[in-house]
Amino acid sequence: MTAGITVLISADLEGISGIVHVTETNPGGYDYERSRMRMTAEVNAAVAGVLDAEPDAVVLVADAHGPYRNLLVEELDRRARLVRGKPRPLGMMAGLDAGADAVLFVGYHARAGSGPAVLAHTMSDAVLEVRLNGRPVGEIGLNAALAGHFGVPVVLLSGDDVACAELLDLVPGTVTVEVKRALGQAAAEVLHPAEAQERLRQAASRAVRQRGQPQPLVLSEPVEVEVDLSAPYTVDLATLVPGFARVPGARTVTFTGRDMAEAYRGVQLLVQLGQIKPG
Ligand SMILES: [Zn+2]
Repeated sequence: MTAGITVLISADLEGISGIVHVTETNPGGYDYERSRMRMTAEVNAAVAGVLDAEPDAVVLVADAHGPYRNLLVEELDRRARLVRGKPRPLGMMAGLDAGADAVLFVGYHARAGSGPAVLAHTMSDAVLEVRLNGRPVGEIGLNAALAGHFGVPVVLLSGDDVACAELLDLVPGTVTVEVKRALGQAAAEVLHPAEAQERLRQAASRAVRQRGQPQPLVLSEPVEVEVDLSAPYTVDLATLVPGFARVPGARTVTFTGRDMAEAYRGVQLLVQLGQIKPG
């Protein structure tokens, strides 16, 4: 047992047990309030698993879905510290720079264009595909590479079977918890939440004990970023950003990040530009 390690849990919503439809993940949507209860319960299961293995660990939880304000603050395990709200430089991975020793992805989903996979997308509907140094990635790849930039391994992912496979392809040897089997973008065979929570607690404990096995995902730097966008207007806006360029004849924006942290901020900016409609 090592005293005082720091573990970051980045929690998304689409890969939480039972969830299959976008209305279940949007504030105000049908069953959203139930979804965030289950999200909080699954994060608590992961927190408990981490502390089963390392009772002295500092556990940071980054709320990483939509507005970054989904987890029920008063219901969260009081032994964890919560990061909520946006925007923030490290986005879904806020807390990484606190000297994290391991990262857990809870409730994650597959990248845009993969699948069939439950609620597969990359950051928002504005983004059709992101490539880092030519390789297509989703939130899983972006966030794992950002962790790698800080020298931190991703030791666990929970989500559907496609999300699990997506991380294993990038980070062999990591622990995955399949809480549903995708039948489509909005359909899946799902585990009972209590079963998902029990599996997650055990897996989180195992993942933290084995945290030396998966290697950090380290990309070569500088990082060449290409983003295919759904709206031509977003491409127009992006070309106003110094260093961002349009690929002629395509809805693609390219830029070079000096390192993965800069690349990550650039992708976050494109996602925000994607929300602006023609004035
Ligand atoms: Zn999400």
